Amino acid sequence: MAKLKLENVNKIYPNGFQAVYDFNLEINEGEFIVLVGPSGCGKSTTLRMIAGLEDITEGNFLIEERIANKLSPRERGVAMVFQSYALYPHLSVYENMAFGLELRGFDEDYIEDRVIHTAEILGLSEYLDRKPRELSGGQRQRVAVGRAIIRKADIFLMDEPLSNLDAKQRVIMRSEIIELHRKVGSTTIYVTHDQVEAMTMADRIVVMKDGYIQAIGTPEELYFKPCNAFVAGFIGEPPMNFIDSKVTGSGIQFNQANVKLDLLNTFPVVKEYEDIQFGFRPESILLGHVAAEKMVHLEAEVELTELLGDTANVYANIGAHNIILKVEPYNTPKIKRKIEFSVPYESIYLFDKKTGRTLNV
Ligand code: ATP
Repeated sequence: MAKLKLENVNKIYPNGFQAVYDFNLEINEGEFIVLVGPSGCGKSTTLRMIAGLEDITEGNFLIEERIANKLSPRERGVAMVFQSYALYPHLSVYENMAFGLELRGFDEDYIEDRVIHTAEILGLSEYLDRKPRELSGGQRQRVAVGRAIIRKADIFLMDEPLSNLDAKQRVIMRSEIIELHRKVGSTTIYVTHDQVEAMTMADRIVVMKDGYIQAIGTPEELYFKPCNAFVAGFIGEPPMNFIDSKVTGSGIQFNQANVKLDLLNTFPVVKEYEDIQFGFRPESILLGHVAAEKMVHLEAEVELTELLGDTANVYANIGAHNIILKVEPYNTPKIKRKIEFSVPYESIYLFDKKTGRTLNV
């Protein structure tokens, strides 16, 4: 286990492209951190700088308060699992797992002990003689993880390790990695573009965009109290609905829609703004005109519905705005009908249109 710190870390590639800007993060011993963000946001670059596979252009990376910028991956005590697994095809599962220890000169008995123990943890004991091509995707993934944890590394780095698996295997491996982390306890940094992985696995999530950190927080903090519109839209599936609006003397007026909400007393902070976005999550609505206090009532026209089994997505319009509502499957409204729905005040998010900052959390 290790405590890590990134201080004002910047990465400029030799071609002059800056991939990471002023990255600051303290990672506690044994913490599971997920770096998440859209393609190209700089998460792999950050992970590779932590691994020692990429130079840090500016700033510091510290392990246990000591600057580690110049240490090799081996000196840093990191083990890494890549998206591609990078298994040796001609070696058996046993040999793939033993390889790193052999290179480091451990004796045979120790290696055998470690391989058998690691294979037990990962449910690979019966596959030790097989070659990677004789395994399923999920089993190969477990060998790749096994090869990394067998070395008892202090720092465990994973770059999109589940992206080659089908949806079902991904769910299984997700919980296996969480369970493994509980058992092994290594400080773990995990890169993904999948917000569901981030939400289900992380102690804390770091959301990145265009090389900048957008937010750092627990899954609950980022879901319930997103600090800006990007984070609010990135965390949650389907994404939050955003409606461009104007603040006028008498309320919040949706642009290009005949809706005015009398909310200035409830959210007085918006009085200082002119252009805002009105946000609510698809899952936080109640169908119908719910006659309760602290509710906004809205009307929309249904364009399309999607039955998913446990829920249904309703694609609808409010004036020129497309929105998505998540409803119970037996409640799916008819296409082209007008529906009413209610949004509790506590589920409303208001954002400054200019900066994207959340105004009311
Ligand atoms: P993905 O999810 O697609 O892997 P990412 O968030 O991991 O994306 P990075 O791989 O860190 O993104 O890349 C960040 C940015 O840096 C991208 O715009 C990429 O094109 C650029 N980049 C990556 N490697 C290099 C390089 N060797 N030279 C120049 N630019 C690079």
